[in-house]
Amino acid sequence: MKYAFFKGKIVPFSEAKIGIMTHAFNYGTGVFEGIRGYWNAEKEQMYIVKLREHYERLERSTKLGLMSTMKYSLADLEKITVDLVRKNDYREDIYIRPIYYKSQEKIGLGLIGVDEDFCMFVSPFGAYLDISKGIRVCVSSWWRISAKSAPQGAKINGTYFNSSLAKAEALNKGYDEAILLSHQKTVAEGSGENLFMVKDGKLITPPLSETILPGITRVCIMTLAEKELGIKTTERQIKQDELYTADELFFCGTGAQVSPIIDVDGKKIGSGQVGELTKKLQAIYFAAARGDNPKYMDWVTPVY
Ligand code: PMP
Repeated sequence: MKYAFFKGKIVPFSEAKIGIMTHAFNYGTGVFEGIRGYWNAEKEQMYIVKLREHYERLERSTKLGLMSTMKYSLADLEKITVDLVRKNDYREDIYIRPIYYKSQEKIGLGLIGVDEDFCMFVSPFGAYLDISKGIRVCVSSWWRISAKSAPQGAKINGTYFNSSLAKAEALNKGYDEAILLSHQKTVAEGSGENLFMVKDGKLITPPLSETILPGITRVCIMTLAEKELGIKTTERQIKQDELYTADELFFCGTGAQVSPIIDVDGKKIGSGQVGELTKKLQAIYFAAARGDNPKYMDWVTPVY
């Protein structure tokens, strides 16, 4: 990490520091995004994936999170991102983390009238979860935070304590990841990724009403499955028991990319190997995200 965007300008990373009384640090009062940049060695180009969509979601998060109107337009945010990534000059895959946060050093809850600021950092980032041999997951004892506890569809810093609890439980028990159920006691998603199930040739994913984060990768997968493989995704509730008899399961997300699940709660999924449809979707997704498929060049923003 070489440079960050902090208090309105690009500064050396070591200078991007907040005080310990900062509202967002104390109460989790911020909204954020996670964006990937893929280094395409052949083209000597860095491609940022779905940049506009991430900032549209950030804008929605600021509204749902009762923040003021964003002080940067979507076009400004895209430009700041490209400038910062270019300045960092990485020649490898990266992760970009923009945060709109309550920056005032102030004790007391409440959101209205508390000063806000925007910052962003860029970090080299390989695979977050294993994408080749598959991962082992458990169904968490923690439920995904309901729409009655925090606004749905927003990526709010404080609500990630719920995700962190689920991830910690999974790691403590020796699993790689967790699947959280929703308040309806049906399957929601992973701690930081959306879930897809393959059963009898059908591709199935929980609907947004399961209080999942409306994943950008989730939409990419649905689009690619339909356009490239002629498979229309069914959005419907998934019961926990269905997980154990699925033919294939995988997570998808900016960090997770397409991550096959080969075991849930110690029970093998399908043959216990990475599924065929998962493999296909993974290859198609990576080609599009890395800027290798001419059909999907409008999904990516070149940096150099
Ligand atoms: N669910 C949660 C809880 C997440 O944190 C993420 C990562 N942002 C996702 C799903 C996947 O969303 P996306 O594909 O937009 O990264």
